[in-house]
Amino acid sequence: MVSDELIGRLGELEAQARQLDPRPDQRRRDGQQALAHAEAFLEALDDAPAYVHRDGRAAGLLEQPIAEQGIGLERALGLLDAHVDHEGITTASGRFGGYIPGGGLFHSALGDFLAAITNRYSGVFFASPGAVRLENQLVRWMAELVGLPEGSAGALSSGGSIANLSAIVAARDAHGIEGERIEKAVIYLTEHTHHCVDKALHLAGLGRIVQRRIAVDGNHRLRAEALCEQIERDRAEGLEPWMVLASAGTTNTGSVDPLEAIASIAGEQGLWFHVDAAYGGFFLLTEAGRQRMRGIERADSVVMDPHKTLFLPYGCGVVLVRDGERLRASHSGQADYLQDTMIAMDEASPADLSPELTRHFRGLRLWLPLQVLGLAPFRAALEEKLLLARYFRQRMIEGGRFEVGPEPDLSVVTFRLPEGDAANQALMNALLDDGRVFLSSTRLDGRYTLRLAAVCHRTHRRDVDEMVDVLHRLAAGS
Ligand SMILES: *Cc1c(COP(=O)(O)O)cnc(C)c1O
Repeated sequence: MVSDELIGRLGELEAQARQLDPRPDQRRRDGQQALAHAEAFLEALDDAPAYVHRDGRAAGLLEQPIAEQGIGLERALGLLDAHVDHEGITTASGRFGGYIPGGGLFHSALGDFLAAITNRYSGVFFASPGAVRLENQLVRWMAELVGLPEGSAGALSSGGSIANLSAIVAARDAHGIEGERIEKAVIYLTEHTHHCVDKALHLAGLGRIVQRRIAVDGNHRLRAEALCEQIERDRAEGLEPWMVLASAGTTNTGSVDPLEAIASIAGEQGLWFHVDAAYGGFFLLTEAGRQRMRGIERADSVVMDPHKTLFLPYGCGVVLVRDGERLRASHSGQADYLQDTMIAMDEASPADLSPELTRHFRGLRLWLPLQVLGLAPFRAALEEKLLLARYFRQRMIEGGRFEVGPEPDLSVVTFRLPEGDAANQALMNALLDDGRVFLSSTRLDGRYTLRLAAVCHRTHRRDVDEMVDVLHRLAAGS
């Protein structure tokens, strides 16, 4: 017999739990408030600094602990406005040109909202045929953009780091790099390879592998002859050349390694050819980018980051593997509690191609802007970034104050004051104090160097002009 007490308690709990599912009028109020918050942020963006430093560093947020009683949406949004939205780097700003900028497409944000509302289960085809078809359609589109053949496979990930990890694990298993062979296997990269590759090797159990940093040329691109020579030397020593990792392009300088030459060497030597195109990959949508990245279609695996050069908000990378079975072999798994999901198999399930099972339906944040806006404005924005980088470099040369790095392969330009490291460090500090524009620094050939990366979809000529002006004003010490 079900007791009255149980019924009573269930009634009480239900009344409280129903707060988790607001009614239509409250949904409308809260939705409008959130939208108004977003609108205020976007409207202020044109005038907002690209970098803000405050002494408290958002510590005020901690004065509102997570508690039994909620504070309501208005106060919660107030906390975001006061402590989160405006401090540190504003990567949504068109005047943000540091690291690899992120943009944050409006239609992606709408996609995220809808993905969260409908909460389609995108890990398994049976669970949401539509969500999985949508994601796989995107993966096929990107594989075609790269030029990979049928039979390739891929998966959307949280970003380039995880995508690189997946590619490295697939390559490890494909070549049977395990046990004793780990210490003999060799990976070829350059000093400019992204550091997430080190992390990925470690996570993949390959921390003790032999790493060869191949020399680069004056444009910071891997020297193919040096690669050949090193492979010969390694074979003579009894090592096992395993993978060559090319960048398209590098985070430091945007340089694209000579993919065609590397593909040929990898082919002749039986190496896995991986291209980390997390930053540069989507420049394939432009004619200049296609020329620059010729040979990428010969890769065994490729990583790209829609949250970089497709301007998506953070949280979207992709791994593509030429022989899709390799990706599946390293990432699929089975469990009794998933037995009903085997009914429908006409599309591969992302859960079998990535480390994740339950996952964000992240395809929607990519699909929605591409469908709503079409490819044309993306192509235009990417070509604009390539040209803006050249424009910036020209203006910096004309300014006569800075030493400027080589003509960019893609959209990163390096420069420095001729006076030496201390002067450049001081300029970087002055940029941070000023905050109007944000650029970042690195070390190149042992010297402190500043760089502009033009990647944000909101960066246009006016923003680049302002960067040039701020740099000259600060360099003049006024
Ligand atoms: C950004 C970047 C990565 C890392 O990707 P995340 O999305 O930051 O995890 C890897 N390689 C290159 C070349 C990058 O620019």
